[in-house]
Amino acid sequence: MEQVCPNISTCNLVVRDDLGINAKKKKEYMSKYCHRNEESWSVCTRYLTKKAINFCPDFVLPNSKMTPDEVIDKFDEGNN
Ligand code: SF4
Repeated sequence: MEQVCPNISTCNLVVRDDLGINAKKKKEYMSKYCHRNEESWSVCTRYLTKKAINFCPDFVLPNSKMTPDEVIDKFDEGNN
């Protein structure tokens, strides 16, 4: 049985098509991270960021090499 990430219905990477991610790449992310199993989504940077700060900016991708603290710093830079 297919399992899905608990964030699937609210994650902008999944629910929006206007983030500048091409359709093929989005499909790859979804099969590698979102529609697999807990082991897969628990290493997704978007999942980890949301878990840490209850929010995930759109620039974060599942395979972004950033800690939640680095995400916050980058987010703050973009808002100043
Ligand atoms: S991108 Fe990450 S957080 Fe978003 S639904 Fe997929 S696995 Fe979950």
